[in-house]
Amino acid sequence: MTLFRARALDTPADPFAADPRDPSALRAGEDVGIVVEDGTITERDDFAVVRESHAGEAVIDLRDGWLLPGLIDTHLHYPQVRAIGALGMPLLEWLERCALPEEQRLADPDYASDVAGEFVRSLVSAGTTTALVFGSHFPVAVDALFAEAERYGLRITSGLVVSDRGLPEPLLVDPRRAASDQAALAARWHGAGRARYAVTPRFSYSASDAMLDACAEAAAAVPGTWFTSHVNENPAEVAEVGRLFPHAEHYVDTYDRHGLLGPRSVLAHNVHASDAELAVLAAAGTGVAHCPSSNSALGSGLFPMRRHLAHGVAVALGTDVGAGTGFSMFKEGLQACFMQGLLGAEGVPLSAAQLLWLTTRGGARALGLDEVGDLSVGRQFDAICLRPRTGTTLDIGLRHVDSATEALSKIFALAGDPDVADVWVGGEQIASAGLRRPIR
Ligand SMILES: [Zn+2]
Repeated sequence: MTLFRARALDTPADPFAADPRDPSALRAGEDVGIVVEDGTITERDDFAVVRESHAGEAVIDLRDGWLLPGLIDTHLHYPQVRAIGALGMPLLEWLERCALPEEQRLADPDYASDVAGEFVRSLVSAGTTTALVFGSHFPVAVDALFAEAERYGLRITSGLVVSDRGLPEPLLVDPRRAASDQAALAARWHGAGRARYAVTPRFSYSASDAMLDACAEAAAAVPGTWFTSHVNENPAEVAEVGRLFPHAEHYVDTYDRHGLLGPRSVLAHNVHASDAELAVLAAAGTGVAHCPSSNSALGSGLFPMRRHLAHGVAVALGTDVGAGTGFSMFKEGLQACFMQGLLGAEGVPLSAAQLLWLTTRGGARALGLDEVGDLSVGRQFDAICLRPRTGTTLDIGLRHVDSATEALSKIFALAGDPDVADVWVGGEQIASAGLRRPIR
């Protein structure tokens, strides 16, 4: 067993369900004792109380930092690590000029292996311990991602990205081949350690009805697999999907009519959603990954979070690397806060507790992962310790706060990858001092 002593912040209860200004929305402990056995949190109380029953035990004292749950990213693209930072283009132009040329390079197994290493280390450096990841169009590259994630024990849900039209020829595949490739990868990786498989058509724009049928077939072949794709990101994309699917009621229906939406489905973006589409998503129990940095970088639009919540659609956050501008979920939370503010009365004024929920427990809920998301008894010990360097703006701010809520606001405003000092997954420490001292 391991006994941690820490200043801990987490959100075990949904702060969207109660008054977000209620201070109890954020659980904060100045001196918390957490006992971890075989990866699971078995005790949590004031340190003095926990100490009494474990008098002889060595203590890992983290009180010089801030202990948070491991961060959860519900949408990003593994092949696009090197494509981050191309600014000033809308979605379809960005795909053609930046993302898709890079994605084609992952046909080379050595190139894919290098990118998989960069991608997984970037997640760990940012403190992200769980992610729903768009894989590659090439099976060998998807294997490389799962293998690299397994080395660190990250909780990755991912799969082969499939398309049969509208993209450069090397990224296209026949639906029959797509069904068999997906089923083979799912059989290999779904449930292997912490890996889970997600059936992943790129978007309806690049997937015919035959391809979406093939996806449903692959999903049925390996029970328990997930489904993810894009929806309603950009007006030009939405219009073209309407033209390609004249018989569909709307963009969401292009997936729903193939039986692809349910509680194990997550769609990214949904910036331009109709009420009818939100009703379908709510009835299906399908979650939405909101990606505010990407929506800003591509000028996609302002996410209607209030309407999603009113319909009862589960919302979490994603970086959407590489249209998104980095792996930090703190930056993503801050950008979500900015964009909701810009919506005025139509927006949701997000509190710090709500940002932490969206990037931890809310993400776990959207991904159906009961075992993570906060630091309660019974959860796996997936955690990060933030320890900003002395003299940085975050360090100065955190030394002068009057409340835990104020501290968390400063963390979302100012924290970045260099502040993530330690990372644990399932009780095992996988990074220390932001990979400057790698554990593996
Ligand atoms: Zn995306």
